[in-house]
Amino acid sequence: MCPTGILEPGNELNMRVAYLPQVKAGKESYCTGCRRCEYACPEWCIYVIDQEEESSNEKAKT
Ligand code: SF4
Repeated sequence: MCPTGILEPGNELNMRVAYLPQVKAGKESYCTGCRRCEYACPEWCIYVIDQEEESSNEKAKT
């Protein structure tokens, strides 16, 4: 699903006994923001957030 291969199963199980995906340590910068993981998640529990955009929005609120 992820074209960059940066996702892996995490250590936490959700209530459906599935391992939550997580980004491999140190690979965060390889995310292209394509949102394939978000669209592929059947439970709508993955959200792709642009951290730079989030931080600029936080600054605008203050
Ligand atoms: S948005 Fe999701 S599928 Fe796309 S590169 Fe980032 S982690 Fe991978």
